[in-house]
Amino acid sequence: MDRRKFISTLGLGAATAALAGCGQQDCADTGVSAGGKTYTWKLVTTWPKNYPGLGTTPERFAELVEKMSAGRIRIKVYGAGEIVPAFEVFDAVSQGSAQMGHGAAYYWKGKHPATPFFTAVPFGLTAQEMNGWLHHGGGQALYDELYQQFNLKPFAGGSTGVQMAGWFNREINTLEDLKGLKMRIPGLGGEVLERLGGTPVQLPGGELFTALQTGTIDATEWVGPYNDLTFGFHKIARYYYYPGWHEPGAMLEFIINREVWESLPEDLQAIVSAAARAMNQDMLDEYTARNNAALKQLVNEHNVQLRQLPEPVMRALKKASDDVVSELVAGNEQARRVYESYKAFEKDVVAYHRISEQAYLNLRTSVMD
Ligand code: CA
Repeated sequence: MDRRKFISTLGLGAATAALAGCGQQDCADTGVSAGGKTYTWKLVTTWPKNYPGLGTTPERFAELVEKMSAGRIRIKVYGAGEIVPAFEVFDAVSQGSAQMGHGAAYYWKGKHPATPFFTAVPFGLTAQEMNGWLHHGGGQALYDELYQQFNLKPFAGGSTGVQMAGWFNREINTLEDLKGLKMRIPGLGGEVLERLGGTPVQLPGGELFTALQTGTIDATEWVGPYNDLTFGFHKIARYYYYPGWHEPGAMLEFIINREVWESLPEDLQAIVSAAARAMNQDMLDEYTARNNAALKQLVNEHNVQLRQLPEPVMRALKKASDDVVSELVAGNEQARRVYESYKAFEKDVVAYHRISEQAYLNLRTSVMD
């Protein structure tokens, strides 16, 4: 039922109460809750329960949706492993055993090669640019088309901003140091490492500390200082490398079962969509506010050795990244269309950002030194 019909069936008094955002009891009195269908959803995530930033964002989303909808949608959030393991979130929502999920599209590259474009492309778009492409540059239509075949409706679900390159137990001085390296690094970044002789491992966040501690992996990337500090990688790895070439603006995602999404009236669809958009920005704001304090703590209190990847290594990673992406899209028509849209947007936004964001950051650095 659309909003106009919905309001007309309630009568003017009830409609006024509905528009005023009545409390649940008041709404029941005026017939809004009694007349309107209510929805109870499970939201499964790939993160540990209440994990800072990544896990608290879906919790805040659930609270916001419940308030905005005056209790018509109630969402309970589950951490990885509470109902389904981290890497079964996609299937659980696709099949409808959970109504919603929160995770990252590149975890599903085994489902479709185009999914990593909706998280991060090595040396690709930043968070600000990803949001521009997705919401005003044609990205969302391609995202919808890609996920429709899996019975899902996707939304951007937050961004970490530029990540860190990861935690290592030895210095990375030349390309030789990447050979034979077993590293947790998902998405296209993992394929790039493989090209350069390393072994990428895909593991959910909650398993990384033990894997690194026991030597199952030699190195790991995760997110950035705010999150990496909470997992305690500084206790088991000495060198912390930057920048996160493989995830320059990692975007997370909300996914909703398609039938569940399509069964919602338009006003509730608008609420869910607006809440997702708000949380998408909110997560980036949280990382922007928290990362530096955590980095100071890692370096000053825990004596972590901060290192920049050497330029020849970065150049080799860039070359391998271009090869990986070219080969990926050559083999899949849908991935090629996503890539062409992404690449066209990137070309334009990079040209403008050279004289805006980048010019300003360079200027700021030069006058502050
Ligand atoms: Ca990462």
